[in-house]
Amino acid sequence: MDIIANFIDGQYQAPLQGQYIDNIEPATGQVYGKIPDSSNEDLELAIASANKALPAWRALASEERADYLLAIAHEIDRRLEALALAEAIDNGKPVGLARTVDIPRAASNFKFFAHACSQFSSQSHAVAGSAINYTLRQPIGVVGCISPWNLPLYLFTWKIAPALAAGNCVIAKPSEITPKTAALLGEICQKVGLPAGVLNIIHGTGKNIGQAICQHSEIKAISFTGGTITGAAIAQLLAAKFKKLSLELGGKNPALIFADCDFDNTVEQVFRASFANQGQICLCASRLYIERSIYAKFKQALVAKAKKLRPSDPLLETTAMGAIVSKSHLEKVLGYIESAKAQGGTVIAGGKQVTLIGRCQQGYFIEPTIIENLNNDAVCNQEEIFGPVITLQAFDNDEQALTLANDSHYGLAATIWTNHLARAHYLAENINTGIVWVNCWLLRDLRTPFGGMNNSGLGREGGLEAMHFFTESKNVCIKY
Ligand code: NAD
Repeated sequence: MDIIANFIDGQYQAPLQGQYIDNIEPATGQVYGKIPDSSNEDLELAIASANKALPAWRALASEERADYLLAIAHEIDRRLEALALAEAIDNGKPVGLARTVDIPRAASNFKFFAHACSQFSSQSHAVAGSAINYTLRQPIGVVGCISPWNLPLYLFTWKIAPALAAGNCVIAKPSEITPKTAALLGEICQKVGLPAGVLNIIHGTGKNIGQAICQHSEIKAISFTGGTITGAAIAQLLAAKFKKLSLELGGKNPALIFADCDFDNTVEQVFRASFANQGQICLCASRLYIERSIYAKFKQALVAKAKKLRPSDPLLETTAMGAIVSKSHLEKVLGYIESAKAQGGTVIAGGKQVTLIGRCQQGYFIEPTIIENLNNDAVCNQEEIFGPVITLQAFDNDEQALTLANDSHYGLAATIWTNHLARAHYLAENINTGIVWVNCWLLRDLRTPFGGMNNSGLGREGGLEAMHFFTESKNVCIKY
């Protein structure tokens, strides 16, 4: 049994009340470990430690903070295989995906913000002949970082790295569904000698410890990634507290596919955008709008690929599609497929749970699923499914495609597939999402603003946006 501990004050510590939650391997459906169900007492210890560490950490020269972050990045690189395996067991994602995407990106997050903090500068505004203003960007203090289960170490470190780079001390909570690689990050902090209390990692449920982190008066900012309903609850909770709050929430991402696209490449990339990580990436395409003249051909190509993609044991090197993260999530996704049928949708590929033989017999697997004949107001075109399920609709012209794409409460990411330059620019300008990819998907440059509009969130992460979020700006005006 793999028993995880909290990482507080530079040491692994059991939860003070001795309460634990089962940790289940999605590919087998079996309990393989226990994680702390932490309480306020654990949080108080972490906050005391973070407050003790704060004066020295914020006073460090930025080069020295950068050195720590780079050391963490290199240690993640060195432990690539062990971390990728842990992520695949804990989350159900293919080990090959964890090895090539999740873990390298976690290292990149630390590398990127190590460089960002050594290059971080502020502004000065001169009033000719009489005064000069300059802006100080100071660390906020102790901040909270809360992350979801779909890209566990990748998103956990995406918050922690800029928070530390900016000179804050951090209380971080990974998802209780995928705690393992976050727990291993503590070992890495010990190995590189990160001062005790600078990063504290506390495990437990959102309802208990997550909410306690958000509410605690000593925690001055919250960076949250997760579901829209949770984000709304946190925003409500914090409304009267005037904390800085960054919310990266759900999506219902449209893909607009035009007849003039590069057909084969578009099929390949749109398929990947739909089913990577079992469709459990907030940026995955889920509503595909296809120009009517190529609708039948494009659909056929997608269906042929879906029929070849079979879920299998995430720990096999050959696996391209792994397990759904939990039993409740599997049931939720299957429920959406049923609702599509009830609303007149036709399942043209997949649609069913898959039972594997051997080790993964009790695991949570679903076929890649493609549905057509649904109206845009159908549940499966409006609500986030967050699984391997996409819908197809045909459109006749650019305006109709744009209207369909924008007919959503969400606004995270869109992809546009066309070789018509003016059309791409026009649509990119008018589509209501925080991120637009043209003829590509998930091509990430960590300097760019990342985040969504409407129900997809509040604020932006990435590059300078993250450094600004994790600092308080103060203007100093000097008259001479
Ligand atoms: P979730 O909202 O259930 O949980 C996310 C985290 O918040 C977990 O650590 C959880 O324990 C914690 N939490 C839950 N309730 C809380 C509360 N009341 N107070 C404080 N913390 C609380 O989300 P999930 O199911 O883990 O993740 C899936 C969702 O995340 C999807 O909607 C997906 O689109 C979204 N997501 C968004 C992005 C993005 O960048 N926009 C990236 C990845 C995932």
